[in-house]
Amino acid sequence: MAETQTGPVRVRIAPSPTGPIHIGNIHTALFNWLFARKQGGTFILRFEDTDQERSDRKWEELIYKEMRWLGLDWDEGPDVGGPYGPYRQSERLELYQKYAQELIDRGYAYYCYCTPEELEAERKAAEKAGQAYKYSRRCLHLTEAEKAQAEAKLREQGRRPVIRFRVPEGQILAWDDLIRGRIETASDTISDFVIMRGNGIPLYNFAVVVDDITMKITHVIRGEGHISNTPMQLLVYQALGAEVPAIGHIGHILGTDGKKLSKRNGDAYVGDYRDRGFLPEALFNFLALLGWTPPDGQEIQSRDNIIRTFDLERVGKSPAIFDLQKLEWMNGVYIRMLSREELLARCLPYLQQAGLVEENPSPEKREWIGRVVALEQERIRTLAEIVPATEYFFKTEITYDPKAVQKVLKPECRPHLEAALSLLEGITETNWTTETLEKLLDGYVNEHGLKRIEVFQPIRVAVTGRTASPPLFDTLAVLGPEKVRERMRYALEHLVPAA
Ligand code: GLU
Repeated sequence: MAETQTGPVRVRIAPSPTGPIHIGNIHTALFNWLFARKQGGTFILRFEDTDQERSDRKWEELIYKEMRWLGLDWDEGPDVGGPYGPYRQSERLELYQKYAQELIDRGYAYYCYCTPEELEAERKAAEKAGQAYKYSRRCLHLTEAEKAQAEAKLREQGRRPVIRFRVPEGQILAWDDLIRGRIETASDTISDFVIMRGNGIPLYNFAVVVDDITMKITHVIRGEGHISNTPMQLLVYQALGAEVPAIGHIGHILGTDGKKLSKRNGDAYVGDYRDRGFLPEALFNFLALLGWTPPDGQEIQSRDNIIRTFDLERVGKSPAIFDLQKLEWMNGVYIRMLSREELLARCLPYLQQAGLVEENPSPEKREWIGRVVALEQERIRTLAEIVPATEYFFKTEITYDPKAVQKVLKPECRPHLEAALSLLEGITETNWTTETLEKLLDGYVNEHGLKRIEVFQPIRVAVTGRTASPPLFDTLAVLGPEKVRERMRYALEHLVPAA
């Protein structure tokens, strides 16, 4: 079987639109996309939507959305068309039926009339005998008369025969996996598999090959879960007299517990990461490094750099570990790279969703929110963290952390808070800047020979409700005179015990 490819690269991903897109699938999409972009090839999106009950256009929409969010654009697909479409299996049924008929005519496939009950009995018998189950081929040798009889019997039950592939004996089915090297399977281990259901719907191992042949796919890059399907697909290529594309299986993505990433050991869907405030460029960078090692070994890689240097030879076959802490770190790095305006634009939806900011803030308010979020740029790791980090800027009444109050707002801080308040009351609105505040409060500390923490920490707790905040004078400057004075008064009246 020829496995060398010439001509322009054409790769694809073929998700089933039956639910939100899993991180593993988007990872496969990314590697295909990177390969296509690096090679100047074509990246195709097509849907395996033959599961009529579970497939839904809403899931297709979600796949578009997640891919666009990550910047994975496709060149051909259900919504953009292309020369070899349609790109939904449900719209290509005639094609599969035509190819299945061709296989029957040429002796590579046959109708099977066995009922599920009969098949179940066969399976049980094999199990009892301790043998791996293979279909008995009972229907392979039926005479025309027996076929007609069997078909009539099925019809009475409202059923139609399925079509099975006739697996040849004594063959070694082999391919040079782009990532794993040579893989071989003996055809004798493969049961005559069903390629078409009675209702004219194709099964995966057959439909995927018909799609890959007719869409002129040159490289199949997919998850290692499909390794066991490949021998069956090789048989279909062979039977249809088609050239086999290059095939590579990338490793699974595992959670830090070593198990396949799922809802149980973390967030498994792309949308979860968007909602939690991961930047698409950070997730892109992170996912690219799951299983692929950039030539310069650097963790932070721009999109352009990844496209330029991506290479299947540097993709490892071992499973990659999805380390959330590393993603958070990386996301933080990307957050710090944002311009102030970008940071604001990205944080706003989170603040609005939390009800801290109105739908359409005025330009002045927007500018002020920009100052608020800039204060946290160095500290947040996800955009969603902006909400708890800055809520005290937006709320009229803040929540005081009881531990902070108990630890910091002690009776002995009362004179300092009182003195600071009266100093702050003397600053005019226009003079309310980081520099003035610092000069004034530093002056008080120095004049009385105090430690900065003795004065500044009570102020911090009084106005933010917590012990950790961005630099104090910046925080006070952005909070503004009114909120600062009001909160200090409140603390003196309600929180600081009498000296
Ligand atoms: N629907 C299959 C999947 O998403 C396609 C596998 C393939 O690429 O052949 O896993």
